[in-house]
Amino acid sequence: MKQIGFVGLGMMGFPMAGRLAAAGVNVLAYDVVAETRQRFAAENKAARVAADLQAFGDCDVVVTMLPNSDIVDEAVLALTKVLGQGALVIDMSSADPVRTRALSAAVKAAGLAMIDAPVSGGVSRARSGTLAIMAGGDAADVDRARPLLGHLGSTLTRVGDIGAGHAMKALNNYVSAAGLIATAEALIAGQRFGIDPNIMVDVLNSSTGKNNTTENKAKQFMLSGAFNSGFSLALMAKDVAIAAVLAEAVQADMRLGAHVNALCTQASNALGKAADHTEMYRFVEHP
Ligand code: NAD
Repeated sequence: MKQIGFVGLGMMGFPMAGRLAAAGVNVLAYDVVAETRQRFAAENKAARVAADLQAFGDCDVVVTMLPNSDIVDEAVLALTKVLGQGALVIDMSSADPVRTRALSAAVKAAGLAMIDAPVSGGVSRARSGTLAIMAGGDAADVDRARPLLGHLGSTLTRVGDIGAGHAMKALNNYVSAAGLIATAEALIAGQRFGIDPNIMVDVLNSSTGKNNTTENKAKQFMLSGAFNSGFSLALMAKDVAIAAVLAEAVQADMRLGAHVNALCTQASNALGKAADHTEMYRFVEHP
Protein backbone atom coordinates (compact mmCIF):
# COMPACT_ATOMS: atom_id res chain seq x y z
CA MET A 1 0.00 0.00 0.00
CA LYS A 2 1.11 3.57 -0.63
CA GLN A 3 2.95 5.29 2.18
CA ILE A 4 1.62 8.42 3.87
CA GLY A 5 4.06 10.65 5.74
CA PHE A 6 3.00 12.61 8.83
CA VAL A 7 5.19 15.41 10.24
CA GLY A 8 4.47 16.92 13.68
CA LEU A 9 3.16 14.71 16.48
CA GLY A 10 2.01 17.38 18.95
CA MET A 11 -1.33 17.87 20.71
CA MET A 12 -3.13 17.56 17.36
CA GLY A 13 -0.77 15.60 15.12
CA PHE A 14 -0.34 12.74 17.58
CA PRO A 15 -4.01 11.72 17.67
CA MET A 16 -4.49 12.52 13.95
CA ALA A 17 -1.60 10.32 12.81
CA GLY A 18 -2.79 7.69 15.27
CA ARG A 19 -6.25 7.67 13.69
CA LEU A 20 -4.74 7.18 10.23
CA ALA A 21 -2.66 4.23 11.45
CA ALA A 22 -5.69 2.72 13.22
CA ALA A 23 -7.69 3.03 9.97
CA GLY A 24 -5.12 0.87 8.17
CA VAL A 25 -3.24 3.69 6.43
CA ASN A 26 0.47 2.94 5.95
CA VAL A 27 1.83 5.78 8.12
CA LEU A 28 5.44 6.96 8.39
CA ALA A 29 5.55 9.53 11.21
CA TYR A 30 8.14 12.08 12.31
CA ASP A 31 8.50 14.68 15.06
CA VAL A 32 11.63 16.65 15.86
CA VAL A 33 11.42 15.47 19.50
CA ALA A 34 12.80 11.94 19.87
CA GLU A 35 10.76 11.19 23.01
CA THR A 36 7.56 12.06 21.12
CA ARG A 37 8.52 9.70 18.28
CA GLN A 38 9.13 6.89 20.76
CA ARG A 39 5.81 7.49 22.53
CA PHE A 40 4.00 7.52 19.17
CA ALA A 41 5.65 4.25 18.11
CA ALA A 42 4.78 2.64 21.45
CA GLU A 43 1.10 3.62 21.18
CA ASN A 44 0.72 2.94 17.44
CA LYS A 45 2.20 -0.44 16.60
CA ALA A 46 0.82 -0.31 13.04
CA ALA A 47 2.75 2.87 12.18
CA ARG A 48 6.42 3.32 11.40
CA VAL A 49 8.46 6.19 12.79
CA ALA A 50 11.33 7.97 11.01
CA ALA A 51 14.34 9.60 12.65
CA ASP A 52 14.43 12.36 9.99
CA LEU A 53 12.73 13.58 6.81
CA GLN A 54 15.27 11.83 4.55
CA ALA A 55 13.26 8.65 5.11
CA PHE A 56 10.15 10.12 3.41
CA GLY A 57 11.26 9.46 -0.18
CA ASP A 58 8.63 6.76 -0.83
CA CYS A 59 5.66 8.78 0.45
CA ASP A 60 3.07 9.82 -2.16
CA VAL A 61 1.36 12.12 0.34
CA VAL A 62 2.82 13.96 3.35
CA VAL A 63 0.70 15.69 5.99
CA THR A 64 2.31 18.46 8.08
CA MET A 65 0.83 19.51 11.46
CA LEU A 66 3.33 22.05 12.78
CA PRO A 67 3.25 25.17 14.98
CA ASN A 68 3.72 27.99 12.44
CA SER A 69 4.82 29.07 8.95
CA ASP A 70 8.53 29.29 9.86
CA ILE A 71 8.55 25.62 10.80
CA VAL A 72 6.22 24.56 7.96
CA ASP A 73 8.48 26.31 5.41
CA GLU A 74 11.55 24.60 6.79
CA ALA A 75 9.98 21.12 6.80
CA VAL A 76 8.24 21.39 3.41
CA LEU A 77 11.31 22.82 1.65
CA ALA A 78 13.32 19.91 3.05
CA LEU A 79 10.64 17.53 1.74
CA THR A 80 10.86 19.01 -1.78
CA LYS A 81 14.40 17.60 -1.97
CA VAL A 82 13.27 14.13 -0.91
CA LEU A 83 9.81 13.38 -2.33
CA GLY A 84 9.20 11.84 -5.75
CA GLN A 85 7.57 13.76 -8.62
CA GLY A 86 3.81 14.23 -8.23
CA ALA A 87 3.75 13.71 -4.46
CA LEU A 88 1.16 15.78 -2.57
CA VAL A 89 1.92 17.91 0.51
CA ILE A 90 -1.08 18.63 2.75
CA ASP A 91 -0.36 21.35 5.31
CA MET A 92 -2.93 20.97 8.09
CA SER A 93 -1.18 23.45 10.42
CA SER A 94 -2.65 26.90 11.05
CA ALA A 95 -0.24 29.00 9.01
CA ASP A 96 0.10 32.37 7.31
CA PRO A 97 -1.85 32.29 4.00
CA VAL A 98 0.48 34.69 2.17
CA ARG A 99 3.48 32.56 3.06
CA THR A 100 1.55 29.43 2.07
CA ARG A 101 1.14 30.81 -1.46
CA ALA A 102 4.87 31.48 -1.73
CA LEU A 103 5.69 28.04 -0.36
CA SER A 104 3.33 26.29 -2.77
CA ALA A 105 5.10 28.00 -5.70
CA ALA A 106 8.39 26.44 -4.56
CA VAL A 107 6.63 23.09 -4.08
CA LYS A 108 5.15 23.24 -7.60
CA ALA A 109 8.52 24.21 -9.07
CA ALA A 110 9.91 20.99 -7.55
CA GLY A 111 7.26 18.95 -9.42
CA LEU A 112 5.04 18.36 -6.38
CA ALA A 113 1.52 19.47 -5.46
CA MET A 114 0.35 21.21 -2.30
CA ILE A 115 -2.89 22.08 -0.55
CA ASP A 116 -3.54 23.79 2.79
CA ALA A 117 -6.11 21.98 4.92
CA PRO A 118 -6.18 23.44 8.45
CA VAL A 119 -8.64 22.18 11.00
CA SER A 120 -11.01 23.36 13.69
CA GLY A 121 -12.34 21.36 16.60
CA GLY A 122 -9.40 20.94 18.95
CA VAL A 123 -7.84 17.90 20.52
CA SER A 124 -11.09 16.11 21.38
CA ARG A 125 -12.29 16.20 17.77
CA ALA A 126 -8.81 15.23 16.53
CA ARG A 127 -9.15 12.12 18.70
CA SER A 128 -12.63 11.29 17.41
CA GLY A 129 -11.83 12.08 13.76
CA THR A 130 -14.57 14.70 13.58
CA LEU A 131 -12.53 17.82 12.79
CA ALA A 132 -13.86 20.55 10.51
CA ILE A 133 -11.36 20.76 7.65
CA MET A 134 -11.13 23.85 5.39
CA ALA A 135 -8.99 23.41 2.31
CA GLY A 136 -7.30 25.66 -0.22
CA GLY A 137 -5.78 24.49 -3.49
CA ASP A 138 -6.60 23.08 -6.91
CA ALA A 139 -9.90 21.20 -6.81
CA ALA A 140 -8.25 18.07 -8.23
CA ASP A 141 -5.62 18.09 -5.48
CA VAL A 142 -8.26 18.59 -2.78
CA ASP A 143 -10.24 15.69 -4.24
CA ARG A 144 -7.10 13.57 -4.22
CA ALA A 145 -6.75 14.27 -0.47
CA ARG A 146 -10.41 13.57 0.36
CA PRO A 147 -10.25 9.82 1.12
CA LEU A 148 -7.30 10.33 3.50
CA LEU A 149 -8.78 13.41 5.19
CA GLY A 150 -12.05 11.53 5.62
CA HIS A 151 -10.36 9.61 8.45
CA LEU A 152 -9.63 12.88 10.27
CA GLY A 153 -12.64 15.10 9.80
CA SER A 154 -16.40 14.98 9.45
CA THR A 155 -16.44 17.91 7.03
CA LEU A 156 -14.00 18.95 4.30
CA THR A 157 -14.84 22.20 2.55
CA ARG A 158 -12.75 23.55 -0.30
CA VAL A 159 -12.85 27.28 0.42
CA GLY A 160 -10.70 28.49 -2.51
CA ASP A 161 -7.24 28.43 -4.04
CA ILE A 162 -4.00 27.74 -2.21
CA GLY A 163 -3.82 29.73 1.06
CA ALA A 164 -7.60 30.14 1.33
CA GLY A 165 -7.82 27.38 3.95
CA HIS A 166 -5.25 29.13 6.10
CA ALA A 167 -7.00 32.49 5.64
CA MET A 168 -10.33 30.90 6.62
CA LYS A 169 -8.76 29.27 9.67
CA ALA A 170 -7.22 32.53 10.94
CA LEU A 171 -10.53 34.35 10.47
CA ASN A 172 -12.41 31.54 12.24
CA ASN A 173 -10.02 31.73 15.17
CA TYR A 174 -10.41 35.51 15.34
CA VAL A 175 -14.17 35.03 15.70
CA SER A 176 -13.60 32.26 18.24
CA ALA A 177 -11.11 34.36 20.26
CA ALA A 178 -13.49 37.32 20.31
CA GLY A 179 -16.20 35.03 21.70
CA LEU A 180 -13.81 33.62 24.27
CA ILE A 181 -12.72 37.03 25.54
CA ALA A 182 -16.28 38.38 25.59
CA THR A 183 -17.41 35.33 27.57
CA ALA A 184 -14.58 35.67 30.10
CA GLU A 185 -15.30 39.38 30.56
CA ALA A 186 -19.03 38.78 31.01
CA LEU A 187 -18.51 35.94 33.51
CA ILE A 188 -16.17 38.02 35.66
CA ALA A 189 -18.37 41.11 35.56
CA GLY A 190 -21.43 39.00 36.42
CA GLN A 191 -19.68 37.31 39.33
CA ARG A 192 -18.64 40.67 40.74
CA PHE A 193 -22.30 41.69 40.57
CA GLY A 194 -23.13 38.56 42.59
CA ILE A 195 -24.32 36.06 39.95
CA ASP A 196 -23.13 32.43 40.13
CA PRO A 197 -20.92 31.96 37.02
CA ASN A 198 -22.11 28.38 36.45
CA ILE A 199 -25.69 29.66 36.33
CA MET A 200 -24.53 32.39 33.95
CA VAL A 201 -23.12 29.76 31.56
CA ASP A 202 -26.44 27.86 31.63
CA VAL A 203 -28.35 31.05 30.85
CA LEU A 204 -25.93 32.06 28.08
CA ASN A 205 -26.33 28.60 26.55
CA SER A 206 -30.10 29.03 26.36
CA SER A 207 -29.79 32.64 25.15
CA THR A 208 -28.34 34.58 22.26
CA GLY A 209 -24.90 34.88 23.89
CA LYS A 210 -24.28 31.17 23.29
CA ASN A 211 -20.98 30.44 21.54
CA ASN A 212 -18.28 27.77 21.40
CA THR A 213 -16.70 29.04 24.63
CA THR A 214 -19.97 29.01 26.59
CA GLU A 215 -20.78 25.53 25.29
CA ASN A 216 -17.41 23.78 25.34
CA LYS A 217 -14.92 25.75 27.40
CA ALA A 218 -16.39 27.95 30.17
CA LYS A 219 -17.39 25.24 32.66
CA GLN A 220 -15.04 22.54 31.34
CA PHE A 221 -11.75 24.45 31.39
CA MET A 222 -12.27 27.92 32.91
CA LEU A 223 -14.61 27.76 35.91
CA SER A 224 -13.27 24.29 36.79
CA GLY A 225 -9.75 25.75 36.95
CA ALA A 226 -8.50 22.89 34.71
CA PHE A 227 -7.15 25.14 31.92
CA ASN A 228 -6.09 22.08 29.90
CA SER A 229 -8.01 22.21 26.60
CA GLY A 230 -4.83 21.37 24.66
CA PHE A 231 -4.77 24.53 22.51
CA SER A 232 -2.12 26.96 23.66
CA LEU A 233 -2.67 30.69 24.14
CA ALA A 234 0.46 31.33 22.05
CA LEU A 235 -1.07 29.46 19.08
CA MET A 236 -4.36 31.36 19.43
CA ALA A 237 -2.44 34.66 19.54
CA LYS A 238 -0.57 33.59 16.38
CA ASP A 239 -3.87 32.91 14.57
CA VAL A 240 -5.47 36.23 15.57
CA ALA A 241 -2.32 38.10 14.50
CA ILE A 242 -2.53 36.41 11.08
CA ALA A 243 -6.18 37.50 10.78
CA ALA A 244 -5.26 41.10 11.68
CA VAL A 245 -2.47 41.23 9.08
CA LEU A 246 -4.78 39.70 6.49
CA ALA A 247 -7.49 42.32 7.17
CA GLU A 248 -4.95 45.11 6.82
CA ALA A 249 -3.61 43.66 3.57
CA VAL A 250 -7.09 43.67 2.00
CA GLN A 251 -8.09 46.97 3.69
CA ALA A 252 -10.94 45.40 5.64
CA ASP A 253 -12.13 47.18 8.79
CA MET A 254 -11.19 45.05 11.80
CA ARG A 255 -11.06 47.47 14.72
CA LEU A 256 -12.49 44.91 17.14
CA GLY A 257 -9.92 42.47 15.74
CA ALA A 258 -7.10 44.90 16.50
CA HIS A 259 -8.25 44.97 20.11
CA VAL A 260 -8.62 41.17 20.32
CA ASN A 261 -5.16 40.84 18.76
CA ALA A 262 -3.61 43.19 21.34
CA LEU A 263 -5.30 41.35 24.23
CA CYS A 264 -4.16 37.95 22.97
CA THR A 265 -0.56 39.15 22.59
CA GLN A 266 -0.56 40.77 26.05
CA ALA A 267 -2.07 37.69 27.68
CA SER A 268 0.33 35.33 25.92
CA ASN A 269 3.33 37.44 26.97
CA ALA A 270 2.04 37.67 30.55
CA LEU A 271 1.13 33.99 31.02
CA GLY A 272 3.98 32.40 29.09
CA LYS A 273 4.47 29.81 26.38
CA ALA A 274 2.94 26.92 28.30
CA ALA A 275 -0.40 28.67 28.97
CA ASP A 276 -3.59 27.13 27.60
CA HIS A 277 -5.81 29.51 25.62
CA THR A 278 -8.59 29.09 28.18
CA GLU A 279 -6.28 30.85 30.68
CA MET A 280 -7.39 34.03 28.97
CA TYR A 281 -10.05 33.87 31.72
CA ARG A 282 -7.30 34.29 34.37
CA PHE A 283 -5.81 37.19 32.41
CA VAL A 284 -9.15 38.98 32.18
CA GLU A 285 -9.72 38.38 35.90
CA HIS A 286 -6.30 39.82 36.86
CA PRO A 287 -4.97 41.71 33.83
P1 NAD B 1 2.03 21.42 19.39
O1 NAD B 1 2.99 22.49 19.73
O2 NAD B 1 1.42 20.60 20.46
O3 NAD B 1 2.69 20.39 18.33
C1 NAD B 1 3.61 20.75 17.36
C2 NAD B 1 4.56 19.57 17.16
O4 NAD B 1 5.47 19.87 16.11
C3 NAD B 1 5.41 19.27 18.40
O5 NAD B 1 5.31 17.89 18.72
C4 NAD B 1 6.82 19.65 17.95
O6 NAD B 1 7.83 18.86 18.57
C5 NAD B 1 6.73 19.39 16.47
N1 NAD B 1 7.76 20.09 15.71
C6 NAD B 1 8.24 21.34 15.88
N2 NAD B 1 9.16 21.63 14.94
C7 NAD B 1 9.26 20.54 14.16
C8 NAD B 1 10.03 20.23 13.00
N3 NAD B 1 10.90 21.10 12.47
N4 NAD B 1 9.89 19.00 12.46
C9 NAD B 1 9.03 18.10 12.98
N5 NAD B 1 8.27 18.34 14.08
C10 NAD B 1 8.38 19.56 14.65
O7 NAD B 1 0.89 22.13 18.52
P2 NAD B 1 -0.59 21.59 18.24
O8 NAD B 1 -1.50 22.11 19.29
O9 NAD B 1 -0.55 20.16 17.90
O10 NAD B 1 -0.91 22.45 16.92
C11 NAD B 1 -0.36 22.12 15.65
C12 NAD B 1 -0.96 23.07 14.63
O11 NAD B 1 -2.37 22.89 14.61
C13 NAD B 1 -0.70 24.56 14.95
O12 NAD B 1 -0.50 25.25 13.76
C14 NAD B 1 -1.98 24.97 15.65
O13 NAD B 1 -2.22 26.36 15.54
C15 NAD B 1 -3.02 24.13 14.92
N6 NAD B 1 -4.23 23.79 15.68
C16 NAD B 1 -4.18 23.42 17.00
C17 NAD B 1 -5.37 23.08 17.65
C18 NAD B 1 -5.37 22.64 19.11
O14 NAD B 1 -6.46 22.56 19.70
N7 NAD B 1 -4.24 22.33 19.72
C19 NAD B 1 -6.59 23.13 16.97
C20 NAD B 1 -6.59 23.48 15.62
C21 NAD B 1 -5.41 23.82 14.98
